[in-house]
Amino acid sequence: MAKHVYTFGAGKAEGKADMKSLLGGKGANLAEMNLIGVPVPPGFTITTEVCTMYNELGREKTFEIIKPEVEAAVALVEELTGTIFGDKENPCLLSVRSGARASMPGMMDTVLNLGLNDVAVETLAKKSGNSRFAWDSYRRFIQMYGDVVMDMKPASKEEHDPFEEIIDQLKEEKGVELDTDFTTEDLQELVSRFKAAINKVTGRNFPAEPWEQLWGSIAAVFNSWNNPRATLYRRLEQIPDDWGTAVNVQAMVFGNMGDSSATGVAFTRDAATGEDIFNGEYLINAQGEDVVAGIRTPLTITKVGSKRWAQLQGISEEERIAQHPSLEEAMPELYRQLDEAQQLLEDHYKDMQDLEFTIQEGKLWLLQTRNGKRTGAAMVKIAIDLLEEGKIDEKAALSRIDPNKLDELLHPVFVPKALKEAKEIASGLPASPGAATGQIVFFADEADKYETSILVRVETSPEDLGGMHIAKGILTARGGMTSHAAVVARGMGKCCVSGAGSVKINYRTRVMTIDGVEYNEGDWISLNGSTGKVYEGKIITQDPDLSGNFGKIMDLAEKYTRMDVRTNADTPHDAKVARDFGAKGIGLCRTEHMFFEGTRINAMREMILATKEADRRKALDKLLPYQREDFKGILEAMEGYGVTIRLLDPPLHEFVPHEPANQKEMANEMGITVEQVKSLVDDLHEINPMLGHRGCRLGNTYPEITEMQARAIIEAAVELKQKGVDARPEIMVPLIGTVKEYELQAEVIHETAKKVFEEKGATVDYLVGTMIEVPRATLVADKVAKVADFFSFGTNDLTQMTFGYSRDDAGKFLSVYIEKGILKNDPFQILDQEGVGQLVRMGAERGRSVKADLKIGICGEHGGEPSSVMFCDTVGMDYVSCSPYRVPIARVAAALANIEK
Ligand code: ADP
Ligand code: MG
Ligand code: MG
Repeated sequence: MAKHVYTFGAGKAEGKADMKSLLGGKGANLAEMNLIGVPVPPGFTITTEVCTMYNELGREKTFEIIKPEVEAAVALVEELTGTIFGDKENPCLLSVRSGARASMPGMMDTVLNLGLNDVAVETLAKKSGNSRFAWDSYRRFIQMYGDVVMDMKPASKEEHDPFEEIIDQLKEEKGVELDTDFTTEDLQELVSRFKAAINKVTGRNFPAEPWEQLWGSIAAVFNSWNNPRATLYRRLEQIPDDWGTAVNVQAMVFGNMGDSSATGVAFTRDAATGEDIFNGEYLINAQGEDVVAGIRTPLTITKVGSKRWAQLQGISEEERIAQHPSLEEAMPELYRQLDEAQQLLEDHYKDMQDLEFTIQEGKLWLLQTRNGKRTGAAMVKIAIDLLEEGKIDEKAALSRIDPNKLDELLHPVFVPKALKEAKEIASGLPASPGAATGQIVFFADEADKYETSILVRVETSPEDLGGMHIAKGILTARGGMTSHAAVVARGMGKCCVSGAGSVKINYRTRVMTIDGVEYNEGDWISLNGSTGKVYEGKIITQDPDLSGNFGKIMDLAEKYTRMDVRTNADTPHDAKVARDFGAKGIGLCRTEHMFFEGTRINAMREMILATKEADRRKALDKLLPYQREDFKGILEAMEGYGVTIRLLDPPLHEFVPHEPANQKEMANEMGITVEQVKSLVDDLHEINPMLGHRGCRLGNTYPEITEMQARAIIEAAVELKQKGVDARPEIMVPLIGTVKEYELQAEVIHETAKKVFEEKGATVDYLVGTMIEVPRATLVADKVAKVADFFSFGTNDLTQMTFGYSRDDAGKFLSVYIEKGILKNDPFQILDQEGVGQLVRMGAERGRSVKADLKIGICGEHGGEPSSVMFCDTVGMDYVSCSPYRVPIARVAAALANIEK
């Protein structure tokens, strides 16, 4: 028969730390703490499987099944505590706590002091010699039980908590301010008013019978798994709905039994900086969540911490010792025990612990331990410190790193003191992390007007690219997290706040107005792209430190990875940034961005608007030298590593002038009429450009474009080789769906290369391969592999076409889809392994079935997303490619994928 209940207590336990999926994190650690000799009140854990059963079979059937085990477990608690559940003389009091596999702090409910009723409260008063404590415990119990089990919630969000309202009412009547000012009689009054309120609202009485209280609480914890805030938290943290929560039932210990009692929370290291400093907070004569609830100001645990705190608060040493003593000073012996326990726990779990403790009349109890949440900086420092202390090995140190959190470390930050004095003026979306300070410019082509500038736009477009690069930060009034500004800024690793709705911009007068205050061009503002906040004036920033511990983590990643990490880069600058982060090559160099700079766009437009091949070739000849120089720059910056250059991909209408003024300029340039330009532009209009004349369809209809680009690439490589530079071009044909589409393009490329080699009297090694991004290409991948040197999975387009979602339009429904659970997450951010991933796997397998050493990589946005990177490792890819600032993240993810295999 399946076991549903696992007991722990007095140094024994049926569960242990590695049973988190069955017992939840809290339950597994309560068991483990017992086993390693940390004092924990006895209790038992009802498994997460019972939660699943509860959701399927319902309350009655489930409880019938587990009843014998629960009764036996309660009997054990009675035995270990020398109390009896429901007894008049010697009642056993319990807590009922939720605990899922992954920590979900504050998401589900806890009931404390269970077992109290009108009789037991008197016994507790007598036994403790403290009737105020007994009645305070009782009123807290009714309050929690009413809220959690009997659903006494505020009727609407405008309404107050019904119990808090009663408390406030009584405070007013009694003329007191704090909960702690209530007398025993006041608390008794609260109890009777609470009970009356429950009866009035629910039509039921507060149950006096302890077993009824217990079963009600267990059911409430199971129900709370599906409450809206827990459901939302799971969605945000991507915790599966079917994991379920365990229920922990445990003997109560009381931190509110008087001045020799206390309760607190502590961290074995500093969660903000990672320093190895034991720290935390406590309150004397308090229970449970009083410490976090902020009702009273908690005290500091260590003497060092307490002194630091007093200094910050401007409190004198005398006052500190008298009114705010540390636990180390107030209860030295208990502090010693706690310090010993925290040391033991950290050494045992080999990671920074976040713990809860309670001291009942001079006896220390631990109530919870878990791996503590921490900042990116602390994460890196703790991992390296534990490694260097010899507590963990290199692989374990790497596994302490959450790749996504590294992002926090890669960008400049405000100097904290300077930020404190800054004035916040607006807020938008935290579109791209980091901090930036500079002078306002409103036009991209004026970004270099000041030494440090902030580009302020209603929204940005591809033409702004150059200026976005120069500016220190970007602020837009419109647009979301996937707006042009946001996506491009993230790619550049540049601070960006998007969609700051209160920002009004007048381009003509060059004024930005926020809440009636005007800011002119040249005024200083500051942006925090990690929080979305906008500040007035200049705030000093500091660069991140990428040597030290961060560098050590990167070295470990290097040591344990199988896959290479390349970068998506279109400029020598980006290539260099990525190379400094450890990128080994370029997985995607888009050539289209190169056509926007300066006067090139005119030559590009001429080429597009040409109606005869001869005219087109004339325009292409003008573009050739630009392209060759661009490629030389990039190939040189990535010397020694492969550089995958994609041939022209976007639909041509993206390049042509749509404004009358620009059309006129173009007409002059080409010696034709404005009407002719206009009609040529209209001809390029497509109903559905994403599925239109783009990708290799351009190169197959106008092979001279491919010819020019191939020539520029090969000439660049040959010239570099002659200079002694090891250039390794890999020419990539985009958007193929049939073998022939690829073959014809490859033929043009090879013929062009041959010609260049003859002309120059020199050769270089080069590869020709293809993007795999049209679903059909994955189906015929074996045929394609016969004629291609490499595959690069373009998962952006592959996702668009597999789902049939236009990435540019999906914003309208994706959030609803995620909310309704139709999709688990945004497939453009996290690779859809179930669907799109199948195509990727099949394409790779079919390709390798005819060419075992076929080089395979990925170049979609997914190449920098940890879970997708891990998937790519299982597919056996040679590399992933991502934007420069994601390179460190992808490197750690790639190493983790290899370690965890
Ligand atoms: P959360 O997961 O929200 O922290 P917990 O289940 O840990 O919820 O409980 C909330 C509070 O109640 C914590 O401060 C905890 O220490 C306290 N608590 C839980 N069980 C007991 C107990 N048996 N005796 C004393 N305090 C308890
Ligand atoms: Mg320590
Ligand atoms: Mg807790």
